[in-house]
Amino acid sequence: MTEFLRLLSTYSPLGLIRYFRIRLMGKELLVTGSCNCCGNCCRRINLEGARGWMRSKKEFADMVKDFPEYERFVVSGKDNQGFLQFSCTWLTENGVCRHHKNRLVLCREFPDKSLHFCGGALPKGCGYLICEVRPFRKYLDEFTGSEGKQ
Ligand code: SF4
Ligand code: SF4
Repeated sequence: MTEFLRLLSTYSPLGLIRYFRIRLMGKELLVTGSCNCCGNCCRRINLEGARGWMRSKKEFADMVKDFPEYERFVVSGKDNQGFLQFSCTWLTENGVCRHHKNRLVLCREFPDKSLHFCGGALPKGCGYLICEVRPFRKYLDEFTGSEGKQ
């Protein structure tokens, strides 16, 4: 029950549909591809706070008080699900990070699979893909199972 409440507060309605679809179909998420350094993920960022994906400027202001390193982000608007979107002041005009070695964990780990469950999508032009796939072990189980019957 606690887990269910956490999902409700963290994921968007679209994200919840994706989450349960994956669970029901026995699938998992796979991130493939590579970064082509377009810089688009630094222009439209969703940030996750203590209560899930951020919707209000007040939540963001509270976050900056606790974690001043987030001050580099500025609100640029909202996405179609009502989540705040941010751009980063560290992004240079030629689309690279001004202090690449000091970028945040969220930058290093982009694209995180949780993006799929907040109902988000990768930025246009991103070289990565997030796919819902059948786990390889399921194919393996089927194969070894059919091998056993011969
Ligand atoms: S810190 Fe660098 S990598 Fe992270 S969002 Fe800003 S410009 Fe992009
Ligand atoms: S949007 Fe994707 S391809 Fe572009 S910089 Fe970010 S991770 Fe790299």
